[in-house]
Amino acid sequence: MYDTNNIFAKIIRKEIPSKLIYEDDQVIAFHDLHPVAPIHALIIPKGQYTDYLHFIETAPSETQIYFFQKVASLAKELCGEHFRLCTNNGSASGQTIFHFHMHIIGGKQLGGL
Ligand code: 5GP
Repeated sequence: MYDTNNIFAKIIRKEIPSKLIYEDDQVIAFHDLHPVAPIHALIIPKGQYTDYLHFIETAPSETQIYFFQKVASLAKELCGEHFRLCTNNGSASGQTIFHFHMHIIGGKQLGGL
């Protein structure tokens, strides 16, 4: 069940501030509040999807394609050719905010997972 009061929903509605990187009618990207690397961005679709599986299983194909192409272009713009993409799906994976998001991490030599 999607909670419309999650932090990222509030960022989309501009109810709480974020360090914005990119925004259009479908996606928004901003800097993570607790970065784990010099570049740590979060990119989210504006639609109400709780996690990756929810997005893949219910979003229209064109929405998914648009989103993942935007992930690629932002990752390249922010990090060049060297970056890590990840998403946590479900609380046991470490997901803490239940609005689907991808982490874009880079800007240094990253260690193993
Ligand atoms: P998750 O653990 O769900 O995969 O990722 C959630 C991310 O959101 C974490 O990396 C955390 O640092 C970040 N985060 C939590 N609260 C805020 C916030 O209010 N603003 C921003 N920009 N990032 C947040």
